[in-house]
Amino acid sequence: MRLYAVGQRSETVRRANLSAIVRELHVSGARSRSELVARTGLTRSAIRGLIGEFVDAGLASEVRATPLGGPGRPSPVVRPNPESAVVLAIDIAVDSLAVALVGLGGEVLDLVRVQRPRGHSSVDEIVGKLAELSGDLRAGSGNDSLIGIGVAVVGVVRRTDGLVSTAPNLGWRDVPLGSRFAGALNSVAPISIANDADLGALAEVRRGVAVGVEDVLYVHGEVGVGGGLIVNGRPLTGTAGFGGEVGHIPVNPDGIACQCGSVGCWETEVGEEALLRLAGHPPGGGWNEVEAVLEEASAGSAVALGAFDALARWLGIGLAGLVNVLNPRLVVLGGLFGRAHPFLIGALEAELDRRTLPGPRALIRIVPARLGVDAPLLGAAELAFEPLLADPASRLRPRGVRAELASA
Ligand SMILES: [Zn+2]
Repeated sequence: MRLYAVGQRSETVRRANLSAIVRELHVSGARSRSELVARTGLTRSAIRGLIGEFVDAGLASEVRATPLGGPGRPSPVVRPNPESAVVLAIDIAVDSLAVALVGLGGEVLDLVRVQRPRGHSSVDEIVGKLAELSGDLRAGSGNDSLIGIGVAVVGVVRRTDGLVSTAPNLGWRDVPLGSRFAGALNSVAPISIANDADLGALAEVRRGVAVGVEDVLYVHGEVGVGGGLIVNGRPLTGTAGFGGEVGHIPVNPDGIACQCGSVGCWETEVGEEALLRLAGHPPGGGWNEVEAVLEEASAGSAVALGAFDALARWLGIGLAGLVNVLNPRLVVLGGLFGRAHPFLIGALEAELDRRTLPGPRALIRIVPARLGVDAPLLGAAELAFEPLLADPASRLRPRGVRAELASA
């Protein structure tokens, strides 16, 4: 049990209550005071005082609700002010680069995505291009309320300092991406960097198909296979943030070489190249060839449908292991797997029936992701908002100053 001195304890409680309210407004949008009372369990008078602090700081506004004809006065509605706290989100994907400005409450204020040629690129080239895009976006917005920068990258990332340990699609190894961005972006806002699938999972949980679900397994297929695991409402990251690399679960002892250096990893059996090989297309053909296979399957081609069946079997083998270990409520299929959901689901469910323990099997639903290609970018924005949501008090006036202003 932790003991606080009386003043320290009340300040700790105030900070926790402010955090609960700003998180609710950010995630759910405008709420009436009565709804905030119901959602946070705080008293009406506590809510009124705490909302006052957000309104004073410009982070929220209160408007009188339109009466609905019922008895009593309508409860005022509290809205987050998107322009009052803005984050810069960045996405380094296999085929594209993207930047966005996102305001408090999750409103996307501006977003630019540019295609990039597949293959290896130097860190200077990518960071330079993203700094240029970000500069244009920020100059255009005229907003100087930048509170954080979040970066999604298609690689294995150490969260503590943004070191990219490996990013095979970019040809990177041990790149200190956090410090490279800090130098290039001309901003003092803190920078957080994480793996793109982890952030795709976060976005689907906050804004997509998995809202309100506490245990989610997000699996994203493209050239590689990424995973984001949400356990008890929190991302499972491991000691340093390297966790969740489901694409490199060994599944086939007689399999082919993986780009990570091992053999028979899950992504060698279910990634984009595996699909193209199974469907008789050139394995290195990229996104255009994947589109062609999807079209063939839609048109009823037996070869394309057979390729998806074979892919679904391997998908089921890996998923069965993950479901048995993690007991998720929802499996969200992103990227290629989301697009191909209708062609995969039959064989996938059958494989899970064969290999999953009955208890966890009965509880799971398998659904396609909702946020598409922007999921990691929106997740990067959520990552950058986290310090504000965890402790908004640091953005507000100290309580003593408020009391003096009020009595003046
Ligand atoms: Zn591997």
